[in-house]
Amino acid sequence: MVTLKTQEELDLMERANRIVLEVLASLERRLRAGVTTRELDAHAEASIRERGGRPAFLGYRGFPATLCTSVNDVIVHGIPSDVPLEDGDIVSIDCGVEFSGYYGDAARTYRVGAVSEQAARLLEVTRRALDVALDCVAPGRSLHDIGRAVERYVKDRGYSVVRDFVGHGIGSALHEEPEVPNYRRRGRGIELRSGMVLAIEPMVTAGSRAVKMDGDGWTARTKDGSLSAHFEHSVAVTEAGARVLGLAA
Ligand code: MG
Ligand code: MG
Repeated sequence: MVTLKTQEELDLMERANRIVLEVLASLERRLRAGVTTRELDAHAEASIRERGGRPAFLGYRGFPATLCTSVNDVIVHGIPSDVPLEDGDIVSIDCGVEFSGYYGDAARTYRVGAVSEQAARLLEVTRRALDVALDCVAPGRSLHDIGRAVERYVKDRGYSVVRDFVGHGIGSALHEEPEVPNYRRRGRGIELRSGMVLAIEPMVTAGSRAVKMDGDGWTARTKDGSLSAHFEHSVAVTEAGARVLGLAA
């Protein structure tokens, strides 16, 4: 069932997502060659707890860390490690926070030092694909308009949309109905209504969309080794369209 959130619930989700966005901003300031994703993870966990939140991913189905840190060809769910980041890497950082029983979830892909032109373009296209998705959010629109628009935008620029992972509803659980595919699916999907909250998260690869899982059971990387990027916001459906949660002052 897809739930509609009350104003009180939306306020708590705003708080949860504000923590997520503040933590991502503070991680961005620490990103440089030589830093390990495990160091970033420790900083994120402390920052979340300082702000009265709880890391939502830590222990989720056994996930061992606060952040998903996905470097270069890793699409999502990379586990923080002691391998230092290198100049020219791209790293997707996904952060989830629970605050007073409600969840926030956002991700973005960052550059480490100077990256290739190809990597920079992939980041730009993926970030814009999320904007394209937000433009499809309004009461009365169909859920599957989102995936159709994202896939068209990405394909027209020569890239692929990952299908093995999708966005999701979010609220008093990290993952709620509905699934939010980033690609064209049969049918229109549900009608969007004011009060729904969706975590919209296009995952884009520079090559094919085929996924290969590592032996750790979490790390999902591109089968062809191509670079991958991931941008996510938790978004409320309002009469005025999409409202990204966590941005309000
Ligand atoms: Mg996420
Ligand atoms: Mg998510």
